[in-house]
Amino acid sequence: MRAEPRAGNVDQGELLKFSALASRWWDPNSDFKPLHRINPLRLGWIDGLCPLAGIKALDVGCGGGILAEAMAQKGATVKGIDLAEKPLKVAELHSLESGVTLDYERIATEALAAREPGRYALVTCMEMLEHVPDPGAIVSACATLAQPGGTVVFSTLNRNPKSFLFAIVGAEYILRLLPRGTHEYEKFIKPSELADYARAAGLQLLQMVGLHYNPFTQVYSLGRNVDVNYIMAFRKSDTA
Ligand code: SAH
Repeated sequence: MRAEPRAGNVDQGELLKFSALASRWWDPNSDFKPLHRINPLRLGWIDGLCPLAGIKALDVGCGGGILAEAMAQKGATVKGIDLAEKPLKVAELHSLESGVTLDYERIATEALAAREPGRYALVTCMEMLEHVPDPGAIVSACATLAQPGGTVVFSTLNRNPKSFLFAIVGAEYILRLLPRGTHEYEKFIKPSELADYARAAGLQLLQMVGLHYNPFTQVYSLGRNVDVNYIMAFRKSDTA
C-alpha cells in the first residue's frame, strides 16, 4: 500500500521543478548531466566506505534513480523514495529497461522512518537537502531508517561566497550546467550545520569529501576542498 505524502516537510515548487524536467532525467547531456557525471565518483566513494554487494540500501530523494540504479547494479537491494511523481515513474521505467530490480515508492522520508525504522545498512540522500524546508528533520528520519551501525550519506551545497559564485552564478548563468533557478543560495547548508543535524540525530561523522568541477577541462573529481559541493558520511551507533 502506498502512503500519501503529507503536506509537511516539502516545497511543492521544488517538486514541480524536478517533475517538469523528468522526461530528460536519463539523457546524459540534459539538465541532469552533472548528476550523470558525478555518479561514478560518488558511487565509488560510497562503495569504498560501505561495500554495496548484498546489503539493503535506501536512496532518499532518488529522483530518476541515477544513484539508486547504480547501487543496485553493484549488488545492493535498493529502495528509492521521492515525493515527485514523474521522476519516480521515469526511474521505474528506466529500471525495467536496464533490467535492474529496484523498489520505488512515493512516500515522505519521515513516513517511511515511522514504518521501517532500523531497516537499512545504508541510507543515501544526495543533492536533496538543499531543496527541503526542514533539512534537520530529513537527517533525523534518515538516521532512524538506518540500522544500528549503519551508514548514512548526504551530499549538498555549502553556503559561502565561493559556493554562490560557483554553484549559482557559474553553474546556472555562465556555464549553463543547470537550469536557472535550480538552487536557492539561502537553502545551502554548511558542513558544520549538517554535522550538527547529524549529531542531534545520533550519527557520528565518518568521512567527508568535496565534489569538484573544473570548467576548463570539464572534469569532475573528488577532493579535500568542501567549499562548494560536498558529501558527508556518518555512522549510526551500534546501540541506537
Ligand atoms: N538524489 C538524486 C536526485 C537529486 S535531485 C541524485 O542525486 O541523483 C533532488 C530530488 O529531491 C528530486 O527528485 C526531488 O523531487 C526530490 N525532493 C525534493 N524535496 C523532497 C522531499 N521533501 N522529499 C523527497 N524528495 C524530495
